[in-house]
Amino acid sequence: MPDHFTVLMIEDEAPIRRFLRPALESQNFKVIEAVTAEEGLSLASSHQPDVILLDLGLPDMDGLEVIKRLREWTAIPIIVLTAREKEKDKILGLDAGADDYLTKPFDIGELMARLRVALRHLQKVKLGDKEPLFETKDFKVDLSSRVVTIRGQEVHLTPHEYDLLALLVRHAGKVVTQKQILKEIWGPAAGDQTQYLRLYVHQLRQKLEPNSNRPKYIITEPGIGYRLKYE
Ligand code: CA
Repeated sequence: MPDHFTVLMIEDEAPIRRFLRPALESQNFKVIEAVTAEEGLSLASSHQPDVILLDLGLPDMDGLEVIKRLREWTAIPIIVLTAREKEKDKILGLDAGADDYLTKPFDIGELMARLRVALRHLQKVKLGDKEPLFETKDFKVDLSSRVVTIRGQEVHLTPHEYDLLALLVRHAGKVVTQKQILKEIWGPAAGDQTQYLRLYVHQLRQKLEPNSNRPKYIITEPGIGYRLKYE
């Protein structure tokens, strides 16, 4: 990971800021801090950080509103920090445009993994690099030719299975909500048809996972969505 990425943390709880700052600095991140939403929004525009860690429970503004305001002008990756019991907030945050979330209390290893994924996506966007090939030990997805192979053998996917897989590949490492998937693949009218989604995930796992009962690539984020494991 190159040096000098700047992280903006917008977090009103001092103990969490005190925990995060040295951890991030030890990984060569430059850290700027905001304790309110207003301050966070203003630092985001004045300092143009590479990634934002956003606590959803801020004193002066709903965190979801912060995400919406940021998304009006920037694609900076936003990782939301939430309390464990706030399941609904995570989904709303992701649907509002956050890139990922961490549930408090989280460990530093987990945070660094999420930051790496967010920054990798950011760099791809900056370089205009579409990276058409996604490869795991078990299967390969070529987005340019729409071909999926297992050890050189082409796997037949239905159009919906392929679209679902391609969507997960484009967001590799990041969680994608059920709503995002339904909207993108079945259109805005899809609504709450999560049973279709479960079916297609099941089919994809059967075709791609070495053991579809214990998936190691297409991971369920309970109540939220799915994440294609990266690395
Ligand atoms: Ca808080």
